[in-house]
Amino acid sequence: MIALLRRLAFPAVLLAAVACERESNTPLATAAPSAPIAATAAMTTVLAKADAKDGAVDQCVHRCAGCALGMDGKATMPLQVGAYTMHFCKQACLDRYAKDAAGELAKLKVD
Ligand SMILES: [Zn+2]
Repeated sequence: MIALLRRLAFPAVLLAAVACERESNTPLATAAPSAPIAATAAMTTVLAKADAKDGAVDQCVHRCAGCALGMDGKATMPLQVGAYTMHFCKQACLDRYAKDAAGELAKLKVD
C-alpha cells in the first residue's frame, strides 16, 4: 500500500520541482528561441521585484511582464534575462521583451 502511494506521488512531486528550473538549467539548446539577454543593475532590480510578485523568490518571473504582471505566464514561453527566467503568456509578449528587455523593464511598474 505504501509502495503504491509512493509510486503515485513521486512523479507529481518531481514535475512540480522541475517546472521552474528546467529552462535555466538547459544549456543553449538548438530549440531555444533566443540567446540569454544580459541584465543591467536597473533591470535586475525590476526583475527581483517582479520575481517576488508571483509568490516565490526563485529567479523565475512567472507572471507575464508583457501584461504588466496581470496574468500568469507559461513555462513553455520563457526568456532568460540575466539570472532570471521570465515566463510570458503569448508570443507577442515574449517578442516585445526579446527585442528590448531593457526598455520594457524600465516601463514595467511593480508595486
Ligand atoms: Zn502577456
